[in-house]
Amino acid sequence: MKNNEFRSVNGNNTNGNGNGNYRIRVLSADEAENASIDDFGHAVDYEQTEILTGSPEQHEAVEEAIFNLLDAFNVNWDDPNYTETPQRVAKAYLDYWASGYGRKPEDEITVFPNSSNSKDLVMVKDMKFYSLCSHHLAPIEGYAAIAYIPDKQLLGLSKLGRILEIYARRFQLQERIGQQTADALMNLLYPKGVMVILYNVTHGCMSSRGVKLHESNTTTYTYRGIFDEDPALRSEVVSLLSLRNPGS
Ligand code: ZN
Repeated sequence: MKNNEFRSVNGNNTNGNGNGNYRIRVLSADEAENASIDDFGHAVDYEQTEILTGSPEQHEAVEEAIFNLLDAFNVNWDDPNYTETPQRVAKAYLDYWASGYGRKPEDEITVFPNSSNSKDLVMVKDMKFYSLCSHHLAPIEGYAAIAYIPDKQLLGLSKLGRILEIYARRFQLQERIGQQTADALMNLLYPKGVMVILYNVTHGCMSSRGVKLHESNTTTYTYRGIFDEDPALRSEVVSLLSLRNPGS
C-alpha cells in the first residue's frame, strides 16, 4: 500500500490552554520512502517497560499522582466526595485497569495434547473487553474474536479470553492488544495459525470529543501463521464473525 502522503504528528501541549501546539509534518511519498522509521511514531517498537509490583510503594506513588492531578484543578479537599478519591483510583488502576501487567499468559494457560488430531478451526467471539488508551488514558471498549487452527496442542476455550484480558488490562493501543494476544498464542500453543479480531471498538478519546466521530468504531485484524498466507481462510473467519447467534 502506498499513500501519497504520511503525517507525522507530535503532540507538544505546552501552552496550557488545552489546544496544544501540534507540529504536523506532511511527507511526500518520496520522502516517506526514505524516511527513518522514527518519522512515524506508530512504527517504532518500544521496549515495554511497564511493571506492576502491587507494592505499597507503587500504590502510594499512584495515589500521589492522582492527588496531584486533582490538586492541579484546585479541588476542595474538604468536600467528602474527594477525600478517598486518590486511594480509590489507585486501587482501581492496580486491581483492574492496569492489572494485566502483573499477569503472564504462561502462568494461566494449560495446554492439552491434540490427541484426536483435530485440524478444525476454533473460534470464540463476542468477548467483551476493556482497556485504557496509552495516548489519553481514556477507556477503550469493544469485542474480540479469536480463532486458531491447532497443530499438536489445544487449550481450554475460556483461556483465549484470559490471554486477551492480560493484554487489554494495560495502557494500550488497540493494534497492540491484537498483536500481543496473537503472539502469546503462537508462542504458547504453536498452532498452525491465529487470528485476533477486535471489532466494534470505541475509543473514549474519540467518542467524547469529535461530534462526527462519536459513533465511530474501529476494527483491527491480526493474523499469524497459516492465516497470514491464506486470504480465503481469513475471509472464512470474517464471515463467521457476522453470523448471528441463534436467538439474538
Ligand atoms: Zn486515545
